[in-house]
Amino acid sequence: MLSQRIQTILPDMTFEEALEVTKIHSVSGILSKKNPFVSTRPFRSPHHTVSRTSLVGGGRIPKPGEISLAHFGVLFLDELTEFNKNNIELLRGPLEDRKITISRLEASITYPANFMLIASMNPCPCGYYGSKEKECRCTPEQIKRYLQKISGPILDRIDMHIEVSGVPYKKLKGTEMIETSEEVRKRVNEARKVQINRYKNEGVFSNSELTPKLITKYCSMEKANTELLEKSFKKLHLSARAYSKIIKVARTIADLDNSKEIKTQHLAEAIQYRSLDRIE
Ligand SMILES: [Zn+2]
Repeated sequence: MLSQRIQTILPDMTFEEALEVTKIHSVSGILSKKNPFVSTRPFRSPHHTVSRTSLVGGGRIPKPGEISLAHFGVLFLDELTEFNKNNIELLRGPLEDRKITISRLEASITYPANFMLIASMNPCPCGYYGSKEKECRCTPEQIKRYLQKISGPILDRIDMHIEVSGVPYKKLKGTEMIETSEEVRKRVNEARKVQINRYKNEGVFSNSELTPKLITKYCSMEKANTELLEKSFKKLHLSARAYSKIIKVARTIADLDNSKEIKTQHLAEAIQYRSLDRIE
């Protein structure tokens, strides 16, 4: 449910983004006649039986796949461990390059694929590992094998790992509303504006696009924070990629907090989102 609601808090699409998405959807023939201009960020959630061609694109006359249809929006993979492992591995390239090249004998075509990947999975085969409601019946070996279905390089490319516990039915039905999507979206749009402004001379729009050089320029931290990051890096055996992801996420948390500097609490929160790195 959380994943599906993300669409309601994503920043508004710019006209240029909307135009690009509309073009891709037009090539695929999925534009609606009633509403031929795509103005909201796409949300694509292919089933785990999705074929390689439907996921990344292809065919005799290469058509865009789900990863391109999700351009500037969200690609949601529910029950990630159920997907064909080889298909998941195909996402490694596009998650780095934000595009995909489909090669055919006659020609090769490149489609944009700048999507936000959201994936969900259970903590173990039975789904109750760590649950307060029911006891998990899996053996450590079973759990290990289950988690290994997702490769290190894929986990490495995911910015935030979040564990969520089951919600009791009573609470789900509760009417207690903390913050509406509309309010959250306002904060997201504000933070996005700050980033567009900050990077206006750099050719990038958001924190996620920062290169190592730009990270040094825009994400400087106090010495105590650099030390905290180094300590976590060693303790969690983080990769260089995870290291820069933590800094970018911390920069975003600071932006949402209206803070010019990355403070300790921003960094600590970002580090906490690498929980799957801790599983050996
Ligand atoms: Zn279990």
